[in-house]
Amino acid sequence: MNLVKLIRDVPDFPKQGIIFKDITPLLKNPKGFKSAINQMAKAVAVDENKKFDKIVAMESRGFIFGPALALKLKCGFVPIRKKGKLPSKTVREEYQLEYGTDVLEMHEDAIAKGENILVVDDVLATGGTAKAVCSLIEKLGGKVAGLCFLIELSFLKPREKLSVYEIYSLIKY
Ligand code: AMP
Repeated sequence: MNLVKLIRDVPDFPKQGIIFKDITPLLKNPKGFKSAINQMAKAVAVDENKKFDKIVAMESRGFIFGPALALKLKCGFVPIRKKGKLPSKTVREEYQLEYGTDVLEMHEDAIAKGENILVVDDVLATGGTAKAVCSLIEKLGGKVAGLCFLIELSFLKPREKLSVYEIYSLIKY
């Protein structure tokens, strides 16, 4: 199934000059959403020997694709949240935004040393968020075994920041 038709371009959202990739037409289409999850599962299964212990995803839209893919791949799910939202002890990583910085947190008992982790999100844009997520995983001794995205904005060159990792994306712009 061709998923490109189910992604809506919204110009100038959230601000002037940004073309927002709106995935809600895909999500409301049951065949489209199912196909997206199946295609993500297939994309990360290129190496049959590579098994993932856990999927890590960041709020907000990573929480749509991450858990669905975790059920399909039969692995655990770990949420990454913005500062102050997780109730137990956390590790944290500050990362650069266009203006200023932000902080991501993950529970410190979320990942055991040596576990193979797959990072999942809807859109890979500059790669800044994904890089911060990988740092959190590595702080706990996890191994980033791959990153999977529905959409990659390759014109923003996110792979330059993430060159040491295996990246799987379904749709590239
Ligand atoms: P980045 O850190 O630049 O890779 O941005 C990643 C986050 O911002 C992802 O979680 C995306 O959901 C969101 N994002 C960035 N650019 C876009 C865009 N053009 N359309 C939709 N979401 C975007």
